[in-house]
Amino acid sequence: MFSPCASIYLLDQHVRFLPLVEMHALSIPKGQLSCKDKKFNLHCIERQSPNSKHKASSMDDFLIIGAGIFGLTTAIELQKRGYQVSLLAGGPIPHPKAASTDISKIVRMEYGSDAFYMDMADRCIDEWHAWNDLFQEELYREVGFLLACSKPMEAETQPYEHSSFHLLQARGHQPEHLVGDLISKRFPAFASRRYVDGFYHKRAGYALAGRTIEVLAKYAQSLGVEVKEAIRVKELLIENSQAKGVTSEKGEKHLAGHTIVCAGAHTAFLVPDLQPFMQVTGHPVFHLRPRNSSLFESPKLPVFAADISHSGWYGFPYHPHEHVVKIANHGVGQVLHPDRDPREVREADVQHLRTFLQTAFPKLHDAPIVYTRRCLYMDTLDGHFWIDRHPRIGNLMIGTGGSGHGFKMGPELGKLIAAAALGEKREGAERFRWRELGGQVKGEEEARFRE
Ligand SMILES: Cc1cc2nc3c(=O)[nH]c(=O)nc-3n(C[C@H](O)[C@H](O)[C@H](O)COP(=O)(O)OP(=O)(O)OC[C@H]3O[C@@H](n4cnc5c(N)ncnc54)[C@H](O)[C@@H]3O)c2cc1C
Repeated sequence: MFSPCASIYLLDQHVRFLPLVEMHALSIPKGQLSCKDKKFNLHCIERQSPNSKHKASSMDDFLIIGAGIFGLTTAIELQKRGYQVSLLAGGPIPHPKAASTDISKIVRMEYGSDAFYMDMADRCIDEWHAWNDLFQEELYREVGFLLACSKPMEAETQPYEHSSFHLLQARGHQPEHLVGDLISKRFPAFASRRYVDGFYHKRAGYALAGRTIEVLAKYAQSLGVEVKEAIRVKELLIENSQAKGVTSEKGEKHLAGHTIVCAGAHTAFLVPDLQPFMQVTGHPVFHLRPRNSSLFESPKLPVFAADISHSGWYGFPYHPHEHVVKIANHGVGQVLHPDRDPREVREADVQHLRTFLQTAFPKLHDAPIVYTRRCLYMDTLDGHFWIDRHPRIGNLMIGTGGSGHGFKMGPELGKLIAAAALGEKREGAERFRWRELGGQVKGEEEARFRE
């Protein structure tokens, strides 16, 4: 049964949320409701009533800048908690240049010896399944993850794969160890004996990233978030070291009790105090059309990482909607300005890809490249997310620093950012606090290739 202050929503097959009623003491069993000839799934969203002090003025409680995975999940979490939230999206949703806008993003637990991220990703995988149920759409596809190694998977030679394998086992998971030509036997797209060791873990896959952003934006609106597309923020409105809102490029003022900046690669330009601690890096993404797609379709090919911490290369099975195989490089990248510098994939990048394919995927090495993209990381110097209040400006919160691995953590990001904005202590948030990173700091995300 529903608690008295629940909001009742109908979810029709078009993923539209139709606020039914908001009334007390309603007794309808959860599940299906039929109306005329249509069947609807009934979902209840518990709303917490914020204590009264937040509802004083007509000003929004929270103004969020950015409609990527950081901004949207935060808006949803705060609105669900009963705060009034507005979100400015800087362009269409999904924004074609946003990092969250993509045909696919890896969802993996494999973070080497880093148990914190492994556990966080493990929780997120449960929540990705819950999102699939809630939205009645397979936004997350659990096709499994293959970590292929060209050398024996020992600590010295392949530390990322070795530690991931043993930590998964220590956590009760069953990664399948694949040695010798078992990899190419099981996944025939791979060149025989190119990779001689590794493992396959079924609890992993990819998210339909751009589609997830579309669905989350609609969901946020159905909860009451005021989503405003195509409003580009020029600067923050700071008075007496207090954030009051923002001014848009058109000169309009948007005021709120609290401002949360989740502007991806633009965050450190809206909050310049962040610039010493993070940089924008561009990474090439390739979409190829194989002549024989069946070899590259799941389950014949799962999401894969090929010596990723030594080469950066990773990829996805043949995409069911886009009909391409996406391959990208989780490497150093090219430092860029998000607006001033061209985001092109250069001939040298293409040659680098062809060389990789030649030895790894002979059947793909001369396949046509349908399109490429240089996508931007908001790269913190240590590779960890940045989720905290500004130490010197009141009512200003930052949610950014995806560093090339944030999308999978979507289900937890909004909760972490909302908790930090509300001054709540949350397990693990310490890692993402405002931190004065010095020049010597190195990236700590173990899958990342660093020359
Ligand atoms: C090539 C590539 C591959 C990746 N692969 C993976 C992967 O496999 N798995 C994974 O987990 N993660 C992956 N990531 C990382 C992941 O995509 C990011 O961490 C995440 O999407 C960042 O989300 P965001 O909300 O911070 O930024 P974005 O998604 O970039 O959103 C930023 C938002 O801010 C808005 N904005 C910007 N400036 C302004 C302004 N001035 N005014 C108003 N709005 C503004 C934009 O319009 C956009 O809506 C990858 C990233 C890249 C680039």
